[in-house]
Amino acid sequence: MNIVLLGLPGVGKGTYAKKISNIYDIPQISTGDMFREAMKNRTKIGLLAKTYIDKGNLVPDDVTIKLVEERLKQDDCKNGFMLDGFPRTIAQAEALDKIVVIDKVLDFTASEEIIIDRLSGRRICKSCGAIYHIRNIIPKVKGVCDKCGGEVYQRDDDKPKAIKERFIVYKKQTEPLIKYYTKKGILRSINADWPIEQVDNVISDARKALEE
Ligand code: ADP
Ligand code: ZN
Repeated sequence: MNIVLLGLPGVGKGTYAKKISNIYDIPQISTGDMFREAMKNRTKIGLLAKTYIDKGNLVPDDVTIKLVEERLKQDDCKNGFMLDGFPRTIAQAEALDKIVVIDKVLDFTASEEIIIDRLSGRRICKSCGAIYHIRNIIPKVKGVCDKCGGEVYQRDDDKPKAIKERFIVYKKQTEPLIKYYTKKGILRSINADWPIEQVDNVISDARKALEE
């Protein structure tokens, strides 16, 4: 199954994506993770992406589309994949439609209040991308990832100024995708307005939507 995930930054997409891709045994392709990896390794794409990401802006379409196109050619995508953070613009969605057929799009929704709290308290592992939260997903040793021992830090773009900008960008550039995929009849809305401890409720709704 070829799946796309939508939802405001901070809605919990990354957490849901990991769980759902494990259940269906398909790779989770997160363009945000790919860019962060590239930034860590200071590759050409990484250095370019950083100038956009730190401000809360989108990386240009041509760069992003090429990155995803290459990734989808890999063997592990043959039996399906889950895109997390792509497409984020109509141009990206149109480019994607030329490469593969998308079966379902899950749009995760939650109130902005909840989302801002999740984002500003979010911490992530620099090495493996595992997601933590200062209040309810706390690593056993402060600042150290439970899964891999990597450094747990706050992304620059999770700071208040960039969060605001990311919301504006989402509403302007990404929200039109909801209509785009609704028209195709493949969009399903998933209520993610649950405390993070109840993430299983979100996952079970997502499964129902995928298996209907
Ligand atoms: P979030 O969904 O929490 O904003 P991501 O980890 O998905 O975070 O993305 C972080 C940043 O990486 C985005 O704010 C954007 O700058 C860049 N990025 C990720 N995916 C894309 C994309 N499909 N197109 C353009 N930029 C992207
Ligand atoms: Zn880790």
